[in-house]
Amino acid sequence: MNVGGGFEPIMKPSQILVANIGSTSFKFRLIEMPSERQLASGGIERIGSNEAPFELRIGDEPKQKGTGSFPDYATAISFVEKSLGGFDNLAAVGFKPVGARNVSGTQFMDESVLKAMEAFNTLLPAHNPPYIAGVRLFNKLYPDIPCIGTFETAFYDDVPMENRRYPIPLEWESKYGIRRYGFHGASHRFVTQRCAELMGRKDLRIISCHLGGSSSIAAVVNSKAINSSWGMTPQSGLPQNNRVGDFDCFALIYLARDLGLGLDVVEKALCSQSGLKGMSGLPTGDIRDIVAAAGSGNEDARIALNVFTGSVRKFIGQFLVEMNGADAVVFTAGIAENSPELRARICDNLGFCGLELDQELNAGTRASETIISTSSSKIAVWVIPTNEELIIARNAWAKISEGK
Ligand code: AMP
Repeated sequence: MNVGGGFEPIMKPSQILVANIGSTSFKFRLIEMPSERQLASGGIERIGSNEAPFELRIGDEPKQKGTGSFPDYATAISFVEKSLGGFDNLAAVGFKPVGARNVSGTQFMDESVLKAMEAFNTLLPAHNPPYIAGVRLFNKLYPDIPCIGTFETAFYDDVPMENRRYPIPLEWESKYGIRRYGFHGASHRFVTQRCAELMGRKDLRIISCHLGGSSSIAAVVNSKAINSSWGMTPQSGLPQNNRVGDFDCFALIYLARDLGLGLDVVEKALCSQSGLKGMSGLPTGDIRDIVAAAGSGNEDARIALNVFTGSVRKFIGQFLVEMNGADAVVFTAGIAENSPELRARICDNLGFCGLELDQELNAGTRASETIISTSSSKIAVWVIPTNEELIIARNAWAKISEGK
């Protein structure tokens, strides 16, 4: 198998390897540009273990699946390189970095950008450190292949000032960069662009709900984000699977200082023992387990679900008011694509603002591009599977093309 060069003679490198780096996982998609054809995809999980599961698909066909010894990231990357028949046709490696101090947009991931990411390590503890290490490794192993990242904040670069500013001393914003940003930018951009294509017009007010392992809602007018449920970090906004979501900062001071828990303990709890996991008291933040527990009478699981759906509805309500209504609500990512039950709860009783879910269409839709509102609904409700990797590949390709 030689995806790198075996399919057809390619004169110039024209493939983008979109790399998704987690703390112990490496997932990828290989996309040919400008055709946007997905050539291959796969990944390795539990890197560091002797029995790390790996998977490789060529096109849509499963090609390799199993477990193996992947002591470190370098082994994982070199496995991917070999499986794809080499990296000779790579024009770039595309990344989806979350955030950095004073850096956004699409960037060559050089040391200055990586240093700006490091400056935000405390704010993005789950995301930035593994990402920085992964990009450094690519830069070292393949110095001739550009690493190009589209920051998750990029979609929000034009959000109006009043939707960025916190009510804090002005100097904290200008001097320290304390403000609201916004993440999941590639996902919200993809599904709102796709929604506009499906509806055949661009002048749309869209409420985009990305509900998955981490969750957020974006308000998008005429293809531009005007607000987001996120604050400064991905530990804000909606309750996340195991991260906190919106929380009163004075409760943090009280816990850490007055009750003596200390900042490190409080930070860890808010970052990994909170959200759906924390509220439900279950060992998992997977909403499927919480739905099941609630169904068996677990009261804390029931309340956790209500806090989650209530928070989603709160942002939908806020954005409806801010946009003077909406033309579409889009559901995407693991929870929203796959759970008709949660979509129904979120859309319950919204007839007053013209949103009517078609219960049958909703019940029958899982992870497929489908309109699930009634024909008389004033607000179209869509399920649109996200494709963040395509946005990353497009931006990386455009960045290289700019430089040619
Ligand atoms: P993502 O971050 O988009 O990969 O989504 C991961 C999340 O999707 C996990 O927390 C899963 O619980 C959730 N998920 C996957 N399938 C379902 C389902 N059928 N019902 C509810 N949640 C689901």
